[in-house]
Amino acid sequence: MVQFHYPCPDCRTTTSLHAPDCRFDGTPWHEIELAYTNILSTLATGAKREGHLREQSPDRWDRLHSAALSRLRHDQRVRETASGALELLSPAAFREQVAVPTQEPLQTIYEEGSVPGCHDHALFALIAYYEMVGFSWGDTRERVVDWLRESGTWDRGGFEEGSPEAVVDSKRHVYIRGYGWRQAAEEAAAVIRRRR
Ligand SMILES: [Zn+2]
Repeated sequence: MVQFHYPCPDCRTTTSLHAPDCRFDGTPWHEIELAYTNILSTLATGAKREGHLREQSPDRWDRLHSAALSRLRHDQRVRETASGALELLSPAAFREQVAVPTQEPLQTIYEEGSVPGCHDHALFALIAYYEMVGFSWGDTRERVVDWLRESGTWDRGGFEEGSPEAVVDSKRHVYIRGYGWRQAAEEAAAVIRRRR
């Protein structure tokens, strides 16, 4: 199957296989890529308000451009400055920004740590999150191992493996398959909140 560099703005696929209800199923991939590159190349010249971004787009702004911009903002590749302009994050700034998840319920899991009874879901959610934001497996492994130790999760016990590294390695299939994180995160956060 062909792999694409950008995700579909609606269903996030990077292959020609869209989700059943995707708005852009059947849209030629070069049009999707063009919308992204129009936005990224225009913002690469400096932060600008959305109106100016639309005007300066090399190709006519359409619903695909709007959807691609929403996706870039949601994925934290583009952020709004204090003065209301849209700004492209540098790769380093992006990495720093996404390293600590701020979306709920991931934030709860990240900050409070996991508890016995939801370790599987919590690990699944964090690994799937780091995969989604583009971290390599090595970086994902390092961050999740650190989280196991620093959040107190490892000390609470409930693992069969002998070390945090072994725990994360046993979940590598989650990274390879690229699952979504939301459902697992919600189930883990519900358990964590009940234990407060
Ligand atoms: Zn799609």
